[in-house]
Amino acid sequence: MTSADTRLFGAVEAGGTKFVCAIGDAAGRLIAEHRLATRDPASTLAETFAFLHRAESQHGPLEAIGLASFGPVDLDRRSKTYGRILKTPKPAWSQVDLVGGFQREFGPRVGLDNPVNAAACAEHRWGAARDAETLVYVTIGTGIGAGVLVEGRPLHGLMHPEIGHIHPRRHAFDRDFAGVCPFHGDCLEGLASGPAIAARSGAPLDRLGESHPQWEIEADYLGQLCAQLVLTVSPQRILLGGGVMSQARLFPLIRGRMRHWLRDYLDRPELSSGVDRYLVTPGLGSQSGVLGALALAIGAADAVG
Ligand code: ZN
Repeated sequence: MTSADTRLFGAVEAGGTKFVCAIGDAAGRLIAEHRLATRDPASTLAETFAFLHRAESQHGPLEAIGLASFGPVDLDRRSKTYGRILKTPKPAWSQVDLVGGFQREFGPRVGLDNPVNAAACAEHRWGAARDAETLVYVTIGTGIGAGVLVEGRPLHGLMHPEIGHIHPRRHAFDRDFAGVCPFHGDCLEGLASGPAIAARSGAPLDRLGESHPQWEIEADYLGQLCAQLVLTVSPQRILLGGGVMSQARLFPLIRGRMRHWLRDYLDRPELSSGVDRYLVTPGLGSQSGVLGALALAIGAADAVG
């Protein structure tokens, strides 16, 4: 990317309740934006296509389109159903050929990923992980999701990582809570997501006093997560975002618990004196979704030259 890079890209953050569509450039500047409610597939996609075509006629051709989509979406390029929305409880969206639809309108360069991988790409390109090639972006809100970039590329593997559903060791103050994950009960999401906090304590974190044990429980589970990530993925940075992490007071508590679980096993300054710059808040805030889609578009354009 140079200052001479004048290419334009289309970006679509396709959420279950709203679509955010934009065009932007390789520097992460959004030039035009349009938001719409997610309705039936035909009318939602028609409005999205119309915005992008209008933007093209006003600003110039789009090099590629990036889609950060709700799911589940088939992300396996070797699969016959690549780019389709798989079985989803959202009426009429199951089996919608998302990538194929955009390719028919805008050509073959369509990048696709889930919202957390997309956000990780945007943080890597423009946000709080610009100097990290391998990183994990975790969002802790109504669920717990994580995007993983390895050497600058989103990790997919079998499907994509589902780090929110690992099982942490139970905190001593939290022996009896069954957890809220419909699949696993007391997995990490079942114990540490926003709904888990509310179910256990009767209120969100910001309504609980600083001495309430919920703070310690939450920090411990997320500290265990970060320690596991360090041990398994070896990221150069971990970003923690989402509604629960809007409580900035959690950060030092989580850093402390991560270090507790690692117990000085790894001799790296990032995990000791530099931990404040290792485990950090994302840099792009509420724009991470649409910028994630923009980053996917740039990746799709660069992949094919
Ligand atoms: Zn689970």
